[in-house]
Amino acid sequence: MVDHNGPKRLLLSLCLLAHLLAGNAMSAEPVAPVAIAIHGGAGTIVRDNMTADLEAQFEAKLTEALRAGHAILRDGGSSLDAVAATIEVMENSPLFNAGKGAVFNAEGVNELDASIMNGSDRQAGAVAGVRGIANPIHLARAVMDHSPHVMLMGEGALEFARAQGFNTVESDYFYTERRWQQLQDAQKQAGQFTVLPNDQLFSTVGAVALDQQGNLAAGTSTGGMTNKRFGRVGDSPIIGAGTWADNAGCAVSATGHGEFFIRTAVAHEICAQVRYRDMTIEEASDSVVQGTLKRMGGTGGVVAMDPEGNIAYSFNTAGMYRGGIDVNGEIYVGIYSD
Ligand code: ASP
Repeated sequence: MVDHNGPKRLLLSLCLLAHLLAGNAMSAEPVAPVAIAIHGGAGTIVRDNMTADLEAQFEAKLTEALRAGHAILRDGGSSLDAVAATIEVMENSPLFNAGKGAVFNAEGVNELDASIMNGSDRQAGAVAGVRGIANPIHLARAVMDHSPHVMLMGEGALEFARAQGFNTVESDYFYTERRWQQLQDAQKQAGQFTVLPNDQLFSTVGAVALDQQGNLAAGTSTGGMTNKRFGRVGDSPIIGAGTWADNAGCAVSATGHGEFFIRTAVAHEICAQVRYRDMTIEEASDSVVQGTLKRMGGTGGVVAMDPEGNIAYSFNTAGMYRGGIDVNGEIYVGIYSD
């Protein structure tokens, strides 16, 4: 049989060889497509409530987070590493409801949730209700990599963190005036122990990515919801609700009113539709976020990615902080629905 692909294969091998000889330091174009997408929360984000300065701050931080993850992918790193590095940038910023900028629970304490999942083998790690950890996404990763468990919570998670060599931070690390005021407002309006949906603003962070090996990954990190009851756990650390990654389907990270996302198993539901109903990533995301979830009264959104690196941003709120670098290297950052 004539091998029509012979010359093409030769060319490909030469390109690969040249790439290897040049070393990745030359920041050559990736040999296989890579992509990354993130969110920094969804809600009533409208231009009227936004200053040009704040808008610029969000755009700059989303861009920085995207570039951190994309550099790892471009240099041949794993989608898991890219997701964790990207989320770390947002956890370190007071702008988002994760890590440093986490919201307060009804007792005036920051309890953090996070999860991460690997699309190639569905390994997953999560932490819930942890205090004193600056970057819960790394702790979730450690649970996945260094324990036989998927989820650790509260004191047990903290003990595990210490054993793994994590440094802890004092509670004042998480104090931001804006979040404290949000708690005061929420308690004035609703009294203690009533969860208010953060003035309809959810600013959990999350990322999905595809690496050069063709592996998907997803991760999510949050402070939960303002004025949440002590011990309340939302969707973000729940594998299948706030986070899901499976090379056979897709990768998803969610943000929104967690109780509804858990009851809809949002992240898994989207990927199941890609896998079994042959829907595009966009159709599947919209059918859940604009369909099932919305009908139940659940507000929020997702970023999702299929195994080819196609990205979907779907939300049923006025806006969602979001962005991506697609397989062509094109960067996109958006805030409002238009
Ligand atoms: N989904 C998060 C939770 O319910 C909140 C958010 O997205 O900001 O805990």
